[in-house]
Amino acid sequence: MDGFRALATEELQTLDNNHHLHPFTDSKVLHDIGTRIVTHAEGIYVWDSDGNRIIDGMAGLWCVNVGYGREELADTAVRQLRQLPYYNTFFMTSHPPVIDLSEQLAKVTPASFNHIFLTNSGSEANDTVIRMVRQYWSIRGKPEKSVIISRHNAYHGSTVGAASLGGMHDMHVQGGLPIPDIRHIQQPYWYQEGGDLNPDEFGLKAAQALEQEILEVGESKIAAFIAEPIQGAGGVIVPPDSYWPEISRICEQYEILLVVDEVICGFGRTGKWFATDYYDLKPDLMVMAKGLSSGYLPIACVAVSDSVAEVLIEIGGEFAHGFTYSGHPVSCAVAAENIRILQREKIIENVDQSTGPYFQQQLRNLESHPLVGEVRGIGLIAGIEIVEDKQARRRFDSELKVGIRCRDFAARRGLIMRAVRDSMVLSPPLIITKSQIDDLVDIARDSLDDILHDLNN
Ligand SMILES: *Cc1c(COP(=O)(O)O)cnc(C)c1O
Repeated sequence: MDGFRALATEELQTLDNNHHLHPFTDSKVLHDIGTRIVTHAEGIYVWDSDGNRIIDGMAGLWCVNVGYGREELADTAVRQLRQLPYYNTFFMTSHPPVIDLSEQLAKVTPASFNHIFLTNSGSEANDTVIRMVRQYWSIRGKPEKSVIISRHNAYHGSTVGAASLGGMHDMHVQGGLPIPDIRHIQQPYWYQEGGDLNPDEFGLKAAQALEQEILEVGESKIAAFIAEPIQGAGGVIVPPDSYWPEISRICEQYEILLVVDEVICGFGRTGKWFATDYYDLKPDLMVMAKGLSSGYLPIACVAVSDSVAEVLIEIGGEFAHGFTYSGHPVSCAVAAENIRILQREKIIENVDQSTGPYFQQQLRNLESHPLVGEVRGIGLIAGIEIVEDKQARRRFDSELKVGIRCRDFAARRGLIMRAVRDSMVLSPPLIITKSQIDDLVDIARDSLDDILHDLNN
């Protein structure tokens, strides 16, 4: 049996190598190592083709919030596939699932949000943001307001528009990005960039970079500022407490729109429905994806606040934008049921009051480990920063690939973590229990010991 399974894995790997080009992957390296093949999943666990059970400490890619194996979502999808597998929402038509989901979203978002534009991915939603904010200012007679300010090391997706909004250098150098009129300011990454300032001093300074940019470019040219409340793919960067209030002040003082990218934080990750609630923000647009359907089907959206929606609807005319699958009935039905699961089982309240604080507290204990410079996070999202010198906040030489090695040790021990540089990042399904958190933290600690041992030998 074992032999047969091993053979099956190899065959799958060979076929994968022969025909499948992976996203964000060096194919040559992958072909040497061989990919891990995941065959099934339940709760917080995935199983690979060799039969290993692994804790999914990343909830897929920050998305499987309600956990794997949800019969309700499977049943909903099958029912909708039978009833109406597809219809478009372009030509004065609609259908019950898209109407239901839009109403559900209006209810769970802050009171000022009552309109939803649907897309299939976070990237498409952020491309929609670029077109929508420029269209908004154009309708208001200020077409010169077209510059969007974002941040270095931000992640907003991988299409031409979304990757331009993002601040990932490695993405910009491939394909001539960013597109014009996107600018990037400093990120609020105190551990790496804070120098001698304390976190709050640094948070203020990083926020004031927005004001400087506005003054430099000219308020009359700026359409919007976009940011993730907590940077995810950038390494789970939680801004100092002083950061968001100062950003809010600046956005209120100047005539620009605030766009909050809730793709990771939305749907309970921080213990609130949205990080907008956690940080008490007043955005004009909110971008959602991932947790919207817990990853069961592709769907994403831009939530539009009343003040923006009024302009678009009352005087905007046709917004010449949309996707064949905007408001896909099956994805909408699954997303609406996913929201009902979050409500029915009080999953977000549990993260807020019980598992979130417990997860943060248990992970903070790792700060006594010789390799851990900082543990940061809120609710069920966290980053563990591995460093060579804690005092100087200095990382290991990147050639040593300490993060990747730690990740691989963890996988062998039964935990999927992700390495961003040398930050180990975690974002488990929101249904994780306290005893499962104990298991997760134990494996994380053992993996840190593994890499410490490896470095010393
Ligand atoms: C993943 C992500 C996106 C892009 O979503 P896709 O569905 O992969 O296109 C956008 N913003 C943030 C913050 C993300 O984490």
